[in-house]
Amino acid sequence: MNEYDSSKMADILKDSHALELTQDETQADVLLLNTCSVREKAQEKVFSQLGRWRKLKAQQPEIVIGVGGCVASQEGEAILKRASYVDLIFGPQTLHRLPQLFDQAVKQHRSQIDISFPEIEKFDHMPEPRVEGAAAFVSIMEGCSKYCTFCVVPYTRGEEFSRPFDDVVAEIAGLADRGVKEVTLLGQNVNAYQGEMHDGDIADLALLMHYVAAIEGIERIRYSTSHPLEMSDSLIQSYAEIPELVSHLHLPIQTGSNALLKAMKRRHTTDEYRDIVRRLREIRPDISMSSDFIVGYPGETEQDFKDTMDFIAEINFDHSYSFIYSQRPGTPAADLSDDVPLEIKKQRLALLQQRLSQQSADISRKMVGSTQRILVTGLSPKQKKQQGVSVDNAEKSIAVDFEAAVPGISTKNSQLTGRTENNRVVNFTGNHDLIGTFVNVNITAAFANSLQGEIHLAGLHSA
Ligand code: SAM
Repeated sequence: MNEYDSSKMADILKDSHALELTQDETQADVLLLNTCSVREKAQEKVFSQLGRWRKLKAQQPEIVIGVGGCVASQEGEAILKRASYVDLIFGPQTLHRLPQLFDQAVKQHRSQIDISFPEIEKFDHMPEPRVEGAAAFVSIMEGCSKYCTFCVVPYTRGEEFSRPFDDVVAEIAGLADRGVKEVTLLGQNVNAYQGEMHDGDIADLALLMHYVAAIEGIERIRYSTSHPLEMSDSLIQSYAEIPELVSHLHLPIQTGSNALLKAMKRRHTTDEYRDIVRRLREIRPDISMSSDFIVGYPGETEQDFKDTMDFIAEINFDHSYSFIYSQRPGTPAADLSDDVPLEIKKQRLALLQQRLSQQSADISRKMVGSTQRILVTGLSPKQKKQQGVSVDNAEKSIAVDFEAAVPGISTKNSQLTGRTENNRVVNFTGNHDLIGTFVNVNITAAFANSLQGEIHLAGLHSA
C-alpha cells in the first residue's frame, strides 16, 4: 500500500508541476518521505532521514521537504517540533492535495499541514494510473475498522471505506487495455471490500473479482492484505469459480494462542482460522498460505509461543512476515505493561523465523521438477549486472515499452525473471519478447531467495 501511495505522489506532482521522479536526492527540488508507523523502528527512521535532508536544505534553502503517510497522520504538527524545516505534512488520505499544499508552502514560506480524512475524495483526484509492465496494483479500499489492540492503523488511516465498484472496474479495464495482465487488489483489510454499485447494491470482494476476471486481458488476480474475520463463504467459494485468482493467500493470524487472539481482540479463534484453511484446501489442495506474526505481545507466555510454533507447523505456512511487538501510542495495548523482556522477544523471533524459513525452503524444494506458470517481469538481477545496466534504467525501459529492446542490451536470449502464483522469483533463460507475458517454466533448482527454471516449450503458447 505504501509503495502504491508513493507512486501516486510522484504521479500527482508530475501531472500538476511536471516534476520528474529521481532516486538521487542531490538532484531533487522536492524531497518526499512516505512513512509507516506500524512499528516504532519505522517511525524513528523518519527522523534520522529528515536529519540527513536538513543538510541538503541548508545548502539549497529552496528545496521543499514533505512528510506523508502514517507518521505524518499520527504526529501532525509535532513533526515540526523535531524538524522545523519540513514544509509539507500530509496524511495517507490527503496525498491528492499535494499540489495545493506545495504551492501554498512556496508562496507563503510557511509549513503546510493537512492530515484530515476526507475519505473517498482522494480517489476522485488521482491521475490516470501509470502502467509499469504487465502487473499493477489497484487500491480498492482503505483504512481499518477492526481496532486490534496493538495496531495503529485505524487511527492513522481512518475507518474502512471502499471505492465505488464501477470506478475500480473501469480502472482495471483501462489497465488491461494498456497491457496489464496481473492485478493486485489492495487494502488494509481488502476482503472487507463493500463497494457501491451503480444501482445502489453493494458488491463484496468475491463479486468484484468475478467482474475483474471477466475483463479481457486480465489473467491473474491477487489481493492483499486480508483479515480472517472477512473470509466470507462467497470469498472462499470464489477459489472454485475464478481460475484467475492465484492459489496463494496472505492471511495474518498474529499468534497461534487463543488466549492472545482474544487479548488482541482479533475476534476469531485458531479453530476458525483452521476451518478457513481446510475449506480453501478442499477447493485448491495446493494453495499456499502465508501470514503475519507478532512475538512478545504483553503477557505472552512460553506456552503461548509454543502454540504459535505448533500452529505454524500445522498449517505449513509459506514465506511470512514476523515482528517483535512494538508498543504504539494511542492503541489499547499501549496501556498494558510491555512485560516480555527484549532478549526473550528476540529469541522467540529468531526461532519463529527459522521455522518459517525451513518451511518455505521445503516448499521451494518440492517445486523442483514441477511446471509453473510465471509472469515474466524483466531481466534477472544477475543479467542486469552483467550487462552493466542500472536496475532503474532497465526497469524503466521495460516499463515504458516492454516489447522494445532495452538500450545497450542484446536482444538475444538473456536471464529473465518472473513470479509464480505463490510469489516465488524464477530466473530462466529466454528472449526479451517474453517480458510481460505468461510462460510455463520447468523448475530445475531451488535457492534461498529464488528458483531456477527453463522454459517448458509447450508453455510458450500460453504467452
Ligand atoms: N489486515 C491485517 C490484519 O489482519 O491484521 C493487518 C495489516 S498490518 C498493517 C501489518 C502487520 O503489521 C500486522 O499484520 C502485524 O503483524 C504487524 N503489526 C501491526 N501492529 C504492530 C505492532 N504494534 N507491533 C508489531 N507488529 C505490528
